[in-house]
Amino acid sequence: MIEKPMVLKTDLRHFLDEEGKLLTLTEQAKTVFEFLSKIVSSISECIAQPIVDIDLVAVNLKCNTRAEQINCQGDIEASCINIGLIEWHCDSCKAAGTISNWQGSLWDKQQHIMH
Ligand SMILES: [Zn+2]
Repeated sequence: MIEKPMVLKTDLRHFLDEEGKLLTLTEQAKTVFEFLSKIVSSISECIAQPIVDIDLVAVNLKCNTRAEQINCQGDIEASCINIGLIEWHCDSCKAAGTISNWQGSLWDKQQHIMH
């Protein structure tokens, strides 16, 4: 049996209100959001520096930080695969996901430099 990779598609706006502030989240959603927001910060910081090769960014996150029940010690790597779309994956297990609608959020480090 071929194992299907689990791709977690997330839209950052689902965690925010109309003003871009964080909604009241469940503990589980909070953990996921912290994981995602760290990826967004790391990626957007790299994008803001045009000299840096941003093919793949090590985001300094362990796979197990995205949920309590995960035991994977793998490192998370992320890249900006499209304008406004971040892809991340674990270097040890099959966990992967995408983040959309992060640009212009509080965690987007580009805005302080570019706009
Ligand atoms: Zn993993």
